[in-house]
This record gives sequence, C-alpha cells and structure tokens, in this order.
Amino acid sequence: MVRLQSYLCGQWQSGTGAGRPLVNPSTGATIAETSTEGLDLAAAVAYAHDVGGPALRALSFAERGALLKAMARALHEHREALLDISRDNNGTTRGDGKFDIDGATGTLAAYARYGRDLGDARVILDGEAEKLGGGARYVGQHVRLSRPGVAVHINAFNFPAWGTFEKLAVALLAGVPVITKPATATAHLTHRMIEIIVEAGILPDGAVQLLCGSAGDLLDHLGPQDCIAFTGSANTGAMLRGHACVVERATRISIEADSLNAAIIGPDVSPGDNLWHTALRNVVKDITQKTGQKCTAVRRILVPESIVDDFAAAMVDELSRVKVGHPGDKDVGMGPVATASQLRDARAGIQLLSQEADVLTGGADPIQGIGVADGEGFFVKPTLLRARAPLDATHVHLHEVFGPCATLLPYSGDASEAATLLAKGGGMLVTSAYSDDRDWTGTLILEGAPWVGRLVLASKKVADQVLPPGMVLPSQVHGGPGRAGGGEELGGLRGLEFYTNRVAIQGDAGVLRKLLG
Ligand code: NAP
Repeated sequence: MVRLQSYLCGQWQSGTGAGRPLVNPSTGATIAETSTEGLDLAAAVAYAHDVGGPALRALSFAERGALLKAMARALHEHREALLDISRDNNGTTRGDGKFDIDGATGTLAAYARYGRDLGDARVILDGEAEKLGGGARYVGQHVRLSRPGVAVHINAFNFPAWGTFEKLAVALLAGVPVITKPATATAHLTHRMIEIIVEAGILPDGAVQLLCGSAGDLLDHLGPQDCIAFTGSANTGAMLRGHACVVERATRISIEADSLNAAIIGPDVSPGDNLWHTALRNVVKDITQKTGQKCTAVRRILVPESIVDDFAAAMVDELSRVKVGHPGDKDVGMGPVATASQLRDARAGIQLLSQEADVLTGGADPIQGIGVADGEGFFVKPTLLRARAPLDATHVHLHEVFGPCATLLPYSGDASEAATLLAKGGGMLVTSAYSDDRDWTGTLILEGAPWVGRLVLASKKVADQVLPPGMVLPSQVHGGPGRAGGGEELGGLRGLEFYTNRVAIQGDAGVLRKLLG
C-alpha cells in the first residue's frame, strides 16, 4: 500500500498509526493511505516562521512572481500524469481533471504576471501620500507589508489542484510561507504536485510545507501574524472560527464555505432565443461538470412561471442524455462523486429536497455506472427538481446537495421577488442573470447583488462572450457573504490583502519616498 508522506521542515515524513485510506471513487478500491499522527507540527510552524518567511520576504515581488512562473511550468510538464491521478483519486473525466489542474497552473501564471508588474518593490503602496502638517513635508502613507507569519491552507476535497495552488499563488506572492493541507480523501493529486515542486527545487526552504492527512494540533501553534485560509463545509468553518488561535490569539481567518448559488432567467427571455440557450448551456454544465462538486455550481434556477415548463423540458432532455460511469471510458460524460460519504450525503440531500420539490429527472436511487462492475463506484444521476412553493420553501434554499443536482424555482419574473429568493440562500459565491431588461437588471443589482460575491450578467450583446459562472478567474474576487463564509480570495492584487498588514506610516515625505519606492 502506498503511504503518502507529508513534507515538513524540509523532509518527507510519515505519520505513524493505521492511516486513513484514499479510494478510487469509480471502483471503491483503496489506492493509498496517509497519517499525520506523531508529526511535529509545532516544528513545522517554527520552520515557516524562521526559515520560509525570511527567505520569501527577502525577495521582490518580481522575484516571487518568477517562482510562481517556474511552478506553473514544472506542473504543466507533468500534466498527463497528473490527469491520471485526478481520474483515479477524484473520479474526474479528462475535461474535469483539466479544469482543476489547468486552473492551478493558470492561476500561478496569472499571479506570476502580477508579481512581474509590481517589479522590484517589497512593499505595496496603498493610495497616495496625504499631507498631514502645515507644510508639504510631513505626510501619511498607507502601505501593505507581508505578515511575518505562516499561512495555513485547509482545502476541500473537490479541487485538490486548483484549490491548493490558487491559495498558494497569492500567499507566496505576498511573501508568506504556507503549510498546505488537502482534504485527506483526495490528497493524492496535491501530494504529487507538491512533490514535483520540491523535486524541481524551485522554492526557498520552508516556503511550502505539505500536511497530508488530518490537521492534528497544527492550529494550536498559530499566533497573531499567522492566518488560516479554509475552504470546506460551513460546519467545519464555524468550528475553526471558534478555535482558540482565532478567538484568543487573533490568528486571521478566511472561510470559503457552502453556497446555494443561483441562476435567474429574466422575464424578457423566450424559449429558443440566445439568452435562453446561454442559460441552458450554463446550468447544464454546472450540474454535470465535476459531477456537480463545485462550490460555484448552480443549485437554484429561478425561471419565470410563463416559461418554466419549457425550460424544465429542455433541461430534462439535456440531463437525461448524460452518460454516467468510469471517467476513463470515452463515452462517459460524468464520473462519480468523490467519496462514499459524498454519495450518501448526495442521496440523502436529494431526498430532503424532494420534501419541497418534485424530481423531474434523476433522483436518489442507486445507478449502475458505465464501465464498472455491478454496484461499484459512487455514482449519482444528474438530478433536476422543481420546487412546489419556492417562497415558502426552506431546504431548497439552505441545503446544499454537493453533487449533480439543482432545483428549478418558478417565480413571477419580478426582480424584487428574485432578490427575495436569492436572499433566502443566506449569502452565496455566485449568481448569474440572463436578461436584456435594464430596469430589471438594475433592481436585481441593488437588491440581490449584496447577497453574492460575484454576479454574472448575460445580455444579448455579450451572450457569446459570457464565461460559465462556475469558472473562477484570478482577476475576480472569489468568495461570498454570509453563508458562503464571508471570505475573499483572488481578485488580482486584492487577494494579497489577507496576507499583508495595512500600516499608516507618518513621516518626512522625502524619506518615505526613498524607503517605500
Ligand atoms: P470539510 O469536511 O469541511 O473538509 C474541508 C477541510 O477541512 C478538509 O481538508 C478537512 O480535512 C478539514 N478539516 C476537517 N475537520 C477539521 C478540523 N477539526 N481541523 C482542521 N481541519 C479540518 O469539507 P469537504 O467535504 O472537504 O468539502 C465540501 C464542502 O466545501 C462543500 O460544502 C462545498 O460547498 C465547500 N466548498 C467551498 C468552496 C469555496 O470556495 N467556497 C470550494 C470548494 C468546496 P480532512 O479531509 O483531513 O478531514
């Protein structure tokens, strides 16, 4: 049995004890195991503080950017082998594996460019210097400085590549060393990617450490200049928010959690027109891509009552043609969910939603995957439900089925009603809206957008350019208010705010110009 090691204090190290298994979700076979028992995590935190941090902070933004570029290149060279690992541990089709792995290298490359553009500086100026005294000489200048701590990254199971490296790119550019912890169940891909970076000798010692398995007592060793960037379920997020390091020692925390994302079809959209097809393509992709295991996937689809029957029929037609099975099989369009517990949760979730909604296609019953032995693998049918009374429902707004499942919510077509339905989700990562009616869109922005981190507006003139709403871009903020965790990742240089401290420096304008650039 392969035992995945952690990379701590410049050494590959094995935990003791039985180890937790990593499973191929298409077959149920165990492919590796890992344990963090007995590892000295206090030493790992100290190594980041004493070795990794100083080495990174000594580099300019351009030099750190060059490291990110080298990382992207090294990983890209191993793309095919990484896609195989993704298939075998994550159950991804080739397209879904590319979404994760190319998303990782693409984000590294994007942050490499931000680093190049910041040049030789090691400090980010935040606004202009402001005159404070009677003369022009005495000024105040806000700056952002790298935090002299470690960033602990705790990731969800669904994006072992992108989730790891989108966080890493931002922290390393900010000059902060990282201890990255993938979700245990799908850690194989992260493990190999970190191994590639280590083998290539790209990063200074201590810049990146890998904890492969449970977090153990890692957080007990964090202090006021450290930070935790967490992606995962709202329950785990809430527990981390209450950890003593956050509550008593002021460790900074960012949470990306569950999200009941929405798509809203405007009242001016008619069956068969351009926006109809754009919306249909996007929602079907969101439900099936990565088997619906995307934090940004649509869960609620608001459609005007006048066209909901037609839209439902078109979706059922598309979803019922998706072939589900082993992602290595060329005919298969959608693989399994990642773990046995995700399978149980997805089925139980569909049953819960069906208390308030009718199943139009799919459902919670077991399904035989194509290309696997009878009963093997963690497969779920692409599932569409239709809520009976959306304004009175609760589960469809609050229970995230983390799988290939979404619910249609018929509504009047009124933008304020759409905003009310959005708000019932309690805060989300992304919502897309399809309309050419500017009054309707304006109302939606004012009343609905405060509930989302990103609003994708599809209108006639940009319909052919609109990117699928599930796609997170390095230049755009990723995060959402309330239920979605309140975190903000990426967004270009905005992402660096989490890893830097804003300091107001007051003094002689000439001296500050010289020292700060
Ligand atoms: P999870 O069970 O909350 O686990 C997430 C991570 O937290 C894993 O690495 C897990 O480690 C770790 N963890 C669990 N207990 C911990 C503890 N006591 N101390 C420190 N770390 C701990 O979530 P998941 O099932 O992997 O992910 C699915 C959820 O993530 C979905 O709800 C989805 O919406 C959300 N998600 C959100 C985003 C976003 O960007 N907003 C992106 C992707 C996913 P182990 O695996 O070792 O237990």
